[in-house]
Amino acid sequence: MFKTVLLPIDLSAPSSWEHALPAALRLCQPEEGGVLHVLTVVPDFGMSVVGTYFATDFEEQAMHKVGEALTVWVADNVPDGTEVHPHVTHGRVYDQIINAADKLGVDAIVMASHRPELTDYLLGPNAARVVRHANQSVFVVRGD
Ligand code: ADP
Repeated sequence: MFKTVLLPIDLSAPSSWEHALPAALRLCQPEEGGVLHVLTVVPDFGMSVVGTYFATDFEEQAMHKVGEALTVWVADNVPDGTEVHPHVTHGRVYDQIINAADKLGVDAIVMASHRPELTDYLLGPNAARVVRHANQSVFVVRGD
């Protein structure tokens, strides 16, 4: 049904893939030729005061480090034999997820709903925006 799936993950939050990765693999069925795209976004500081305290090449360095971390994550978590494409982008998390889904032409996005420690809402800010604005089907995976 879904041949290509985009799985956006927050590398600092294992809850963003613990249940979502198995769901993504089941949906894209790599053994049948399905393809998994994994995206992690280095968030934008925008024009905030915080951003002015970082070196100008901070974002470039962060992208590089995150790229390395994502390669390790793929080796540690994605089963051998899966066609998997890692992607690192920079900007607003939800914008990047929506744009990547369009650019890559995926059939569906699979993402965890929110971090479990934030129990007072059911859909995190990025998940909510992706559900509302993505052009693809979005499979929201609850962790609890
Ligand atoms: P929370 O604030 O509880 O983490 P979010 O809406 O930000 O809620 O997170 C839900 C999902 O959004 C994550 O499981 C992941 O799929 C996606 N997401 C969050 N941060 C990132 C990031 N930096 N890169 C890629 N995807 C992210």
